[in-house]
Amino acid sequence: MVDSIQAVEGRHTSGLYNKQPITLVRGEGAWLWDERGRNYIDCTSGQGVANLGHGRIEIARAIAEQAQRLITCPETFFNDQRAALMEELTALTPGLERVFFCNSGTEAVEAALKFSRYSTGRKQIVATMRGFHGRTMGALSATWNKKYREPFEPLVPGFIHVPYNNLEAMQTAIGEDTAAVILEVVQGEGGVYPATPDYLLGVQALCRERGALLIIDEVQTGFGRTGRMFAYQHYDLQPDLLCVAKSLAGGLPMGAVLMGERVRALSPGLHGSTFGGNPLACAAARATLRILQREDLPAQAARKGTYFMERLRQIRSPLIREVRGLGLMVGVELKQKVAPYLSLMQERGVLALSAGLNVIRFLPPLVIREAQLDRVVETLEEVLALGPD
Ligand code: PMP
Repeated sequence: MVDSIQAVEGRHTSGLYNKQPITLVRGEGAWLWDERGRNYIDCTSGQGVANLGHGRIEIARAIAEQAQRLITCPETFFNDQRAALMEELTALTPGLERVFFCNSGTEAVEAALKFSRYSTGRKQIVATMRGFHGRTMGALSATWNKKYREPFEPLVPGFIHVPYNNLEAMQTAIGEDTAAVILEVVQGEGGVYPATPDYLLGVQALCRERGALLIIDEVQTGFGRTGRMFAYQHYDLQPDLLCVAKSLAGGLPMGAVLMGERVRALSPGLHGSTFGGNPLACAAARATLRILQREDLPAQAARKGTYFMERLRQIRSPLIREVRGLGLMVGVELKQKVAPYLSLMQERGVLALSAGLNVIRFLPPLVIREAQLDRVVETLEEVLALGPD
C-alpha cells in the first residue's frame, strides 16, 4: 500500500508547522484544489505570495524559458535578467536606486540590519511591539513575539521594542546610537494593524533629525497587497531601506533590499548570497512586475479591499471585535480564539490565516473575484453563527 501523502509528511516533519489536513495539488486564480479534486477559495495566497493568483501561464513560461537559457549566475558576474530587473524594480521606488538580492523576507531584513549598522557606525536598532521580521538570529532580534524569541536567546544585542503607533515612545527610543528604526506599514503577523499616517511621518522626521535610517519591511505589504505597489506609497514617506520578498518573483523564492542615498555603498565581502539575483528568479520577477502593472493589481486590491471590508463590517455577530486592514490585507479580530472558526471555514471550502490568537487574516490573491469575496463573507457569517463547538 502506498502511504498517504499526509502520513509521509508526518513521518518526516521537523515538527515546526501546525499542519492543516489538506493536500493541495493545483491552483488557478483564487482557487485551490486538493488531491481529491475538492476546491477552496484561497485567502492565504501561500502566506501572501500569490498576489497574481495561482496557475499563471505567463510566469510558468518566463521560468521555463529562462531555465533553458541560464539558471545560475552569481553576482560576481553580470546578467541580462538581473540588470533588467534592477531597472524595472527601482523604477517603482523613486529614491531607492541600489538593490541587494537575496532569497526570502528574513534574509532581506537580515541584510537591511547589517547595512544600517555598517552605514551609520551605530549599533542600536529600534523595532516595534507586535512587529514581525523573520526568524534568523538578526531578524528574530527585531521580531517581538517572545514565543519565537525566548528558546533561542541570547539573540543579537542592541535591539529594543517600543509600542507601535506611539510617537512619544519613538521619540524617547531614537538616540545618538540608533542605527535604524524598522517597522511594517501594516503589521501582518502581529494582528493586521495599519500604522497611522501621523505616526509614519513622525517616525520619518525623527529618523532624519537624529541620523537614524528608516527600514520599511514590506515583505507582506508589498507588490499591490494594500492597494498601492508598496504600502509606504500611500503616504509621503521615503524609506532609506525597503525590504521585499514573498510575491516578488511570482512564487519563486526571492527577496531584495532597496536602498536610498543615505545608505553607504557596501564593499565586497561584507555580505552576499550564492543564489541572490539568480537569472531564474529575476526572469520570474520581471514577469510578475509586468503583470502587476498591466492588470493594475494594486488598484484592484484597493477596490476589492474596500468592498470586502464593507461587507465584513455588515456581519452581525457578537463575536467580532473589529474589522481592519488596508487593501486586500484584512483582519477580523474576534473576542475569542480563531482556530476553531478557521477549521470550520476550511470544511466549507475557504482557506484563511490567523494573526496571533484572536485575528483571522485574509490575504487573498489580488485577482480574487467579487463573487468569491461574497462567499468568504457568507462562510464567515455562517461559522460565527455556529459558535466555537
Ligand atoms: N517580514 C515580514 C513583515 C513578514 O510578514 C515575514 C513573513 N511572514 C518576514 C519578514 C519573513 O519572511 P520569510 O518567511 O520569507 O523569511
